[in-house]
Amino acid sequence: MKDLIVQLFSTLLPILLYQMFGTKGYSLNTTKRDVLIGFMIGSVSIWLCMSFPISIFDGYLYDLRDVPLIIGILYGGPWVGISLSAFMFGYRVIIGGQGIYLTLISHIIVLPFIFYQIKKFPHYSHKKRLKVSTLLSFFLSVMVMTVSLTAISLRSGFYITKDMVIFFLYFVISNTLGINILIFLIEKHREHIQITDELQEAEKMRVVSHLAASIAHEVRNPLTVVRGFIQMLAKENMNQEKLQVFGEIMLNELDRAQMIITDYLSFARPQSDPENLEIFEVKTKIEKAVNVMIPYALVQGVEFHTVVANQLFIRAERSKLEQVLVNLIKNSIEAMPQGGTIQIKAGKQNKYVTIDIIDQGIGMTPEQIEQLGKPFFTTKETGTGIGIMVCYRIIEALGGIIKVSSEVGKGTHFSIMIPAEIIQENVTE
Ligand code: ADP
Ligand code: MG
Repeated sequence: MKDLIVQLFSTLLPILLYQMFGTKGYSLNTTKRDVLIGFMIGSVSIWLCMSFPISIFDGYLYDLRDVPLIIGILYGGPWVGISLSAFMFGYRVIIGGQGIYLTLISHIIVLPFIFYQIKKFPHYSHKKRLKVSTLLSFFLSVMVMTVSLTAISLRSGFYITKDMVIFFLYFVISNTLGINILIFLIEKHREHIQITDELQEAEKMRVVSHLAASIAHEVRNPLTVVRGFIQMLAKENMNQEKLQVFGEIMLNELDRAQMIITDYLSFARPQSDPENLEIFEVKTKIEKAVNVMIPYALVQGVEFHTVVANQLFIRAERSKLEQVLVNLIKNSIEAMPQGGTIQIKAGKQNKYVTIDIIDQGIGMTPEQIEQLGKPFFTTKETGTGIGIMVCYRIIEALGGIIKVSSEVGKGTHFSIMIPAEIIQENVTE
């Protein structure tokens, strides 16, 4: 029993590690880094399995090394697969003892079938992956056992004992079950990530369509101003001085309209690649989010008051932080139907960048705060109750936290903390 637990731990370990490193891990188009991480994690797991084998009765030892091997091949791709296979055989030779050839023969028969699945595997559904990998594991363990037991019985004159049959069953069942459990866990985790991504994108689309109306409204203002001036120009004779002043106003108005559209478009762009982590200054993102929201705020009679320190850096996906800020600011605006001021502050606290968004809106009851972040919790007629949840997920993924304090009738204070990125002065120049 103790042995079995050690084996299970050894096979579970790579999955924990793998999630920690957060590589994308589809076998196609893997980078060198992915291959290296895949190999390191897989080989540690194989090494643990082989070093602490399970013994059912005297002389019959076995381990679950094929479980990390199969997972490594299917999820890590050909290079991880080849290097892990080589590692496994290499370590098997070092351990020595009988049966090296048996391991080699049985694997050489089955491994091609597993490698053959690499290309197709990422395109299967979650269920089909579970099925295929379980079958492969069953096939491999039956082959390993058949080859070994045939060899043993050959030596002892075709004599098959009850022990051998039990051993055979133990081996096949624990390998097949082991793969089944692990692939199930891996696929559940992936499904979860996929759903989260889809929800994020859905909420963004909704915010985008909400904002579009106010943006259109806001762009119409400068156009009206410029139109008025041009009408005047056509009718009246103006001196040079007046022309210059009016010209400048018109240019400013048009620039503003252009800026609003540019910012909006960059927010509305589809989600960028999850691997696009960058280091950037928080200030630029806050300014951008505020600019996107100004038209919406104007319609509701809301003003912004921002105090943001320079030189605050974080490592994240640009569009994600924007999405969080826009979601929170939008909620704050919606909480102030009578208008008011939203304060936005950013600073540094220990190793964290802090961003505070403080409104003077309707606030929330303790029960509502409790519900915050749960999917589909909304108090608005046309709300979805996804915005805050998406914010929580994004900030969590960055290793940060969001705190809320709120009082009914007074307002709400959202406080975001994200691990700060330390940057040498000269790098930022
Ligand atoms: P939605 O905005 O679609 O309702 P959210 O997830 O963005 O969904 O917000 C969920 C709920 O949390 C809102 O319906 C509202 O009741 C509450 N809430 C969020 N932010 C604030 C805020 N700044 N002031 C008051 N209530 C808020
Ligand atoms: Mg919202």
